[in-house]
Amino acid sequence: MGIALTGMTISYHAVEAADTRIYIDPGHGGSDPGASANGLQEKDITLKIALKTRDILNEQYSGHTIKLSRTSDVTKSLNERTNEANNWGTNFFVSIHINSGGATGYESYTWNGSYANKERTNAIRRTIHNETVGQTGFIDRGAKEANLHVLRKTSSPAILTENGFIDNAADADKLKTDAFIEEIAQAHADGIAKALGLPAK
Ligand SMILES: [Zn+2]
Repeated sequence: MGIALTGMTISYHAVEAADTRIYIDPGHGGSDPGASANGLQEKDITLKIALKTRDILNEQYSGHTIKLSRTSDVTKSLNERTNEANNWGTNFFVSIHINSGGATGYESYTWNGSYANKERTNAIRRTIHNETVGQTGFIDRGAKEANLHVLRKTSSPAILTENGFIDNAADADKLKTDAFIEEIAQAHADGIAKALGLPAK
């Protein structure tokens, strides 16, 4: 703001400073379906949630730019995803998944290593976690840590969400409806906006 020479320069920087880069990663895709059960494939549901989360963030919030690791059913390696996010200068990374293994409910992950962003990453995760459990009515399986590629290799704060169990009949029935996909997406969008301080439109 001390630069009096050109107003153009000031407004350019103001726009840039307000631009939070959000990388949304729908888990799996293409030749990797993820978990499958009850007539569902994980890759399809993660894509629906990711696309809807993007749309809601763009419709209801400002101050951000979103990139998705994929917007269709294509194969993309974990390295391609995290390299792309890091090269883009991502400020926040969220990977969206559906669980399997016979239980029910929602859990989320951050990296279990030691790193500079850890406290902030867990604070962001907590906000999104609470928002998602609160809005969806999922049983809360907890905020967890794990050594997962997308969490370890992303330079920015990164979280991974597990939205119900594809092999649980009740969770699967809900995941089959657009209304429930939208609830998950709205909760993710609200949580991300709250955690990153995005203004509502
Ligand atoms: Zn998965």
